[in-house]
Parts: sequence; C-alpha cells; structure tokens
Amino acid sequence: MISRRKLLIIAGAATASAMLPVQISAVSQGQENLSEAASSTRRWAMVVDVQKCTECMKEFIRKTGNPEVKPPCVVACDKENNVPEFENKKIDPQWMRIARLKLDKESVEPEEMYIPLLCNHCEHPPCVQVCLTKASFKRPDGIVEIDMHRCIGCRYCMIACPYGARSFNYLDPREGLKEVNPKVQMRTEGVVEKCTFCVHRVDEAVAKGIEPEPACVEACRLFGKNALVFGNIKDPNSEISKILRKTMPVQLRPEFGTDPHVFYIKLGGE
Ligand code: SF4
Ligand code: SF4
Repeated sequence: MISRRKLLIIAGAATASAMLPVQISAVSQGQENLSEAASSTRRWAMVVDVQKCTECMKEFIRKTGNPEVKPPCVVACDKENNVPEFENKKIDPQWMRIARLKLDKESVEPEEMYIPLLCNHCEHPPCVQVCLTKASFKRPDGIVEIDMHRCIGCRYCMIACPYGARSFNYLDPREGLKEVNPKVQMRTEGVVEKCTFCVHRVDEAVAKGIEPEPACVEACRLFGKNALVFGNIKDPNSEISKILRKTMPVQLRPEFGTDPHVFYIKLGGE
C-alpha cells in the first residue's frame, strides 16, 4: 500500500498555464471502493500511467524546447471536442491539460512528473450538487455531462469542482476554432464546459457493440505510448479492470469524498 503523500503542482506546463497553483493530496485507493453500485452495467473510467506521461512530456520538451508544448493527447482532445484557442491562456477553455508535479518528499525519483488533468467523472460530483438549473448531471454509466441549453453561466460548478476541471466561455467559442467537428455539440459564449470522456464516441461505440476509445486515448496509442487506458470497470475482464487489480491506483484529492474515476498509477515512480 502506498503511504499518504502530498503532491505539489509547482508550475503550469504545456496547456496548464491558466491553472492556478494548487496542492493535490493523493492516497492509494483499494479496488473494493472504486465505485458504488449503480443501475448501469457500465461504469466508465480512465487510468493514467504517470511514468509514461512523464517520459513523453520530457521527450517533447527536449525536442521542441517549449515547456508549454501540447502533447498529442491534448491536441487530439481540443480538435475532437471543438475546444477553442484564442491564444490567451487566461480565457482559453481547457478540457485536458498537463501539470508539472513535484513530490513534496525528499529523495524521491523522479523529482518531477507530468500528469494530464481532466474531469474525473466523480461518483459524487459536487459540480452536479450545486447546479441551480440541473444543467450538470451524472449519467448511470458515470459520465458527468452539461446540458448547454440549461447552463446559465453562474459558475457555481466551477467553484465546487476541487480539480479546476471546468472552463467558462468568455467569448464565442466558434471564433477560436479553425474547424468544427460536427459530432460534438458547439457551445456558446457564457456557458461552462469540460471533458465529457468523449461521450459521443462512447455512445457510438456502445451502439455498435465495440469498445469506446476517447480521442486522447487514441492519440496516445497511435503515438506509441499507451499511457492512457479507458474502459468499463464493471467488466472484470476489461483491460482497465485488470490494470486496476494489479496496481496501486491513486485518486486525486480523495479527502473531498468525490470518488474520482480517473486513476493514476506509477505516481512517484512506483
Ligand atoms: S472533476 Fe470536477 S467537474 Fe468533473 S465530475 Fe468531479 S467535480 Fe465535477
Ligand atoms: S476523454 Fe475526450 S474529452 Fe476527456 S480529455 Fe480525453 S479527449 Fe478530452
């Protein structure tokens, strides 16, 4: 069992520059508590291999000389989900971003790590609890979504989310896009948005009876890293279930009781 530890995001990296410095505590999570019972036969989740992400980011930074470089997962997410870019990091929405972490502990290798941050599709999402109009909701399969027609832009959900996973559209997102993916609903100025676990891909794959693959996971696989694994943790034979059984998955900020469903493995080189 990994002992409780504190992680400190020391600086924004890649797309993380709009993120406020935040302290993240993480604790190992036993398989028995991964999810509470729900009506669906599926519970979608993601596993992130931090060692692989760190190697990938260091390679990109070395090659480009740019500490803010966007790796393939982030580029793919932005393109797939019509995430706009106004070249203004204070207002650019971010569905997936890369954070540079430093273990708040002496003599730990590697000292510096890179991890992707995205919506955790929490089992107990505070963003849903505070939503005045029920625009934010959790599906039976665990995906937390936003109904853009109901969002009034009050931003209570952004305050409630302990992970800074949500972004506000200060401008019309269409003005920050070179092309639009018609499969993903366009947002408007004045609403909140975030990672959906590529819900359109999930629903399409389920309808076809195949395994879903979010855009970031696909990009990471095509790039030859396989640092991200997505799947149904209610299926004991899924790849993600097998990984979670044989590793020590870590959830971010478990003290909030949100039960995040993005799990991190090999955090701190273990
Ligand atoms: S990570 Fe934040 S936005 Fe995502 S479900 Fe949890 S509380 Fe909501
Ligand atoms: S699951 Fe989809 S929406 Fe979420 S970070 Fe990955 S590509 Fe972006």
